[in-house]
Amino acid sequence: MIEETDNPGDCNTCGVQREIPYLCEACGVLTREPARLDHFARMGLPRTFNLDREQLETAYLKLSRLLHPDRRVREGAAVQTKAMVLSARLNEAYTTLKDDIARAEHLLALAGGPSADDDKRTPPGFLLEQLELREAAEEATDAAALEALQAKVVPAANAARARVAELLTGSCFPDKELCAALRLELNALRYWTSLTTELEQKLAALSA
Ligand SMILES: [Zn+2]
Repeated sequence: MIEETDNPGDCNTCGVQREIPYLCEACGVLTREPARLDHFARMGLPRTFNLDREQLETAYLKLSRLLHPDRRVREGAAVQTKAMVLSARLNEAYTTLKDDIARAEHLLALAGGPSADDDKRTPPGFLLEQLELREAAEEATDAAALEALQAKVVPAANAARARVAELLTGSCFPDKELCAALRLELNALRYWTSLTTELEQKLAALSA
């Protein structure tokens, strides 16, 4: 059965106060899924960049169990299919919220900020610096040279990540200018992250 209510509130089946907009956590009954549910609301989590990792994992495990199609065999094919769809959306929400960049992108989108396609700019001078670092990474053939590059790139990536966190947790977010500044930092952070990964892979290949 899928309850035809989209009011958060008491469950019609068991009477317990519902916390998740499409499901009663107490008795497991599915309710109608509200339109345009964001990833935070889908998991019953606060809409914040500073998500508690343990809270995220706990919510994911609990909801995965409740939505598992095997639980729904006696409820019929329609409910089982719905549970499967909700389960896939839960996985998408979890994957997004667990990753710093994806979570930041989601918050920026929810605030109506520009997407990476809308605005590809990076901070002034940034691309030239990236180009030089990337060339150096390509030319580096021994561990010492790669580690020297890592010593530059990792702190820079961390600093970019810290600026993103600062913009997202400041009291002014989602002010329009802050959204634009965040877009720039996120674009830069993508470059730093890919360079960090590339250096890690090259180093791993050397020791393999
Ligand atoms: Zn219930």
